[in-house]
Amino acid sequence: MKFAITSKGDSKSNALMHKIRAYLLDFKLTYDEQKPDIVISVGGDGTLLYAFHRYSGRLDKTAFVGVHTGHLGFYADWVPEEIEKLVIAIARTPYQIIEYPLLETIIRYQGGGKETRYLALNESTVKSVDGTLVMDVEIRGEHFERFRGDGLCVSTPSGSTAYNKALGGAILHPSIRALQLAEMASINNRVFRTVGSPLILPAHHTCTLKPVNRRDFLVTIDHLTLLHKDVKSIQYRVANEKIRFARFRPFPFWKRVHDSFVSN
Ligand code: NAD
Repeated sequence: MKFAITSKGDSKSNALMHKIRAYLLDFKLTYDEQKPDIVISVGGDGTLLYAFHRYSGRLDKTAFVGVHTGHLGFYADWVPEEIEKLVIAIARTPYQIIEYPLLETIIRYQGGGKETRYLALNESTVKSVDGTLVMDVEIRGEHFERFRGDGLCVSTPSGSTAYNKALGGAILHPSIRALQLAEMASINNRVFRTVGSPLILPAHHTCTLKPVNRRDFLVTIDHLTLLHKDVKSIQYRVANEKIRFARFRPFPFWKRVHDSFVSN
């Protein structure tokens, strides 16, 4: 089996990365940064997001596992003290694969420029470069509302515990193939009106945002922020691709939610 390791880059994560690498080489596994079967991310959730984007071209051939060197993460749920156990499990046991849905974002441009497509593990957000974001929101090709406010957030089920949660969105179990649209500070008064509640759309529904006046937007895809100019539309739907996590022990989603947000 071929493995790769991504580190957050701090001294603690780097030291752990070297240790895991040495252990796995002792077990006769092959280090292959280009075509790994398993990617071990050492750091935090941000490190796993980085690893996901680095290997997003081969999601069907790669499984991910996360070790955290800071606080308990949603994707990074192994602690440094457990790495001997983890290494033996990787080297010796056929692991279970858990798949989580991803978000597809397609941005189209005025004048017919080539569209861009992204996959997100957590979410994509749209904000105006300056001033209020004004966007027409379409669901399944039908006008739904004209949004005015700070921005919109479209999240995956596993991303529902991240930015989406801070916006008052629901936490969705990652076995549900859906996307969630949440508002950031919408303007609501006698003139302007939005639904005001987060919406959860099934996998066969698309949500498209269409500019009303300004055409330049700041679009985030997980930890990446990109400026898109002359935007015609931003289309969201549940991606056909999935992320695969290697599971070596049960750590149910609701237990992670409890341990992260309630108490541990
Ligand atoms: P960061 O360093 O600012 O960390 C953001 C925090 O989000 C970290 O504590 C991380 O553990 C946590 N996080 C990431 N994914 C999560 C998930 N799926 N469930 C629960 N917590 C999660 O930024 P980063 O590490 O580069 O991560 C980027 C993410 O930060 C974005 O995808 C977005 O979800 C999140 N974010 C959150 C807010 C907010 O809550 N107000 C604002 C901006 C971005």
